[in-house]
Amino acid sequence: MAVDATKPYDDQNIFAKILRGEIPSKTVYEDEWALAFYDINPQAPQHILVIPKGAYVSWDDFSANGSDAEIAGFVRAVGHVAREAGMVEPGYRLLANIGQDAHQEVPHLHVHIFAGKPLGPMLMRG
Ligand code: 5GP
Repeated sequence: MAVDATKPYDDQNIFAKILRGEIPSKTVYEDEWALAFYDINPQAPQHILVIPKGAYVSWDDFSANGSDAEIAGFVRAVGHVAREAGMVEPGYRLLANIGQDAHQEVPHLHVHIFAGKPLGPMLMRG
């Protein structure tokens, strides 16, 4: 079920548990600001999730309330992960779902990185 991205942060969400090491994930990269791990249900040959270490529900919450250092650290981590994975050529796609219309499922900000094949149209048509 899609989350209400305007609700307060729920520290029992699945990505909060991954950050605390309470449930396993396949880590791709970790630094002071971000954790990157493989999506459990990949939608492309390469599908990585990058999440900030801080408790932010969504991109909306993070862009409004994150510190400059958190935002810079997170954005740089996303770029680093894609570069290190060799995605810059032939290309990759970033996606962040926010709220119900976008079908955000997990109420901790995550950026999807998709790559590994031509990714098709940006959005489902019709
Ligand atoms: P959203 O729809 O919120 O943008 O995407 C949530 C993503 O989290 C989905 O692609 C889903 O496969 C992934 N996901 C959900 N639970 C887990 C989990 O426990 N571990 C990992 N690695 N990914 C998960």
